[in-house]
Amino acid sequence: MPSEFELIRQYFERPAPSAALGVGDDAALLRPGAGMELAASCDLLLEGRHFRAGTEPRALGRKALAVNLSDMAAMGAAPRWALLALALPAADEAWLAAFAGGFFALAERYGVELVGGDTARGALSICVTVLGEVPAGRALRRSGAAPGDDLWVSGELGGAALALARPELGAAARRLHEPEPRVELGARLRGLASAAIDVSDGFAQDLGHILERSGCGARVEYARLPKAAEFARLGDAALERRCVLAGGDDYELVFTAPQAVRGEVEALARHAGVALARVGAVVPGEPRLAVLDAAGNALAAERGFDHFAA
Ligand code: ADP
Ligand code: MG
Repeated sequence: MPSEFELIRQYFERPAPSAALGVGDDAALLRPGAGMELAASCDLLLEGRHFRAGTEPRALGRKALAVNLSDMAAMGAAPRWALLALALPAADEAWLAAFAGGFFALAERYGVELVGGDTARGALSICVTVLGEVPAGRALRRSGAAPGDDLWVSGELGGAALALARPELGAAARRLHEPEPRVELGARLRGLASAAIDVSDGFAQDLGHILERSGCGARVEYARLPKAAEFARLGDAALERRCVLAGGDDYELVFTAPQAVRGEVEALARHAGVALARVGAVVPGEPRLAVLDAAGNALAAERGFDHFAA
């Protein structure tokens, strides 16, 4: 049975050329670029809560990093370094090799270096911390939306929730297991977007955080929301609405931007290789979201996933 230290060395110690010191000492040493702010974020993935027992380890390694990269994207930050705290019930080397494979494949794509972590025996849980860089004062915050701003959504919504609700539909499963963090898009939105968030808990709930922080409301036309293609074939309007408005785990970006930059945002969509849909507007008043049907009537309010619900 390899020791904890051998496992770390074998599966998690990789060169980290941009760090002054990576894995192997009591702390990593990192040097952010001149004029940059450090963006720091961590996400906890618990078996039975955020993923099912027996989830394929390669997909899990990828997703554990992807959800953190999505937070960097939502801040307009470039991800640079990661730390990984891992509790494992047993030193299962096949599991570790697959998990590390998924993690590093995505890390390499985005130039992220693993510079530290912690490893212990226990119920399977994964906590990734990501550190990124953003030019000082230019990060995308939740608090900058203003009445009159356009409201935008990247990619499509509802696919991950559909994969959970109808696991027999293979097409949606990729959205759930292999979310695509919108890192390039987030960086390009610096200077254009007035506020941004990533959709982890559900469109309505996550947009609600922007509205609360910004002190304004929003009006969304349901028909304009980009929806996973499978919904058109299924023809289940109630399921679609639940997944699109309240489904989590899509990791798309929801952002607001002044009307004056509408043309620039449209041009960005053409160049960034991701669809951007203008779905509504920020309005003055209470931090409330009105989702309107084609006739302009308000649909029932939908709530996202509540981590503390029973
Ligand atoms: P300490 O006792 O100081 O917490 P550890 O023995 O836990 O140190 O870890 C040794 C080194 O390995 C440290 O640099 C730590 O950051 C790194 N490390 C431990 N677990 C992981 C992991 N899962 N992924 C990446 N680095 C890790
Ligand atoms: Mg330790």
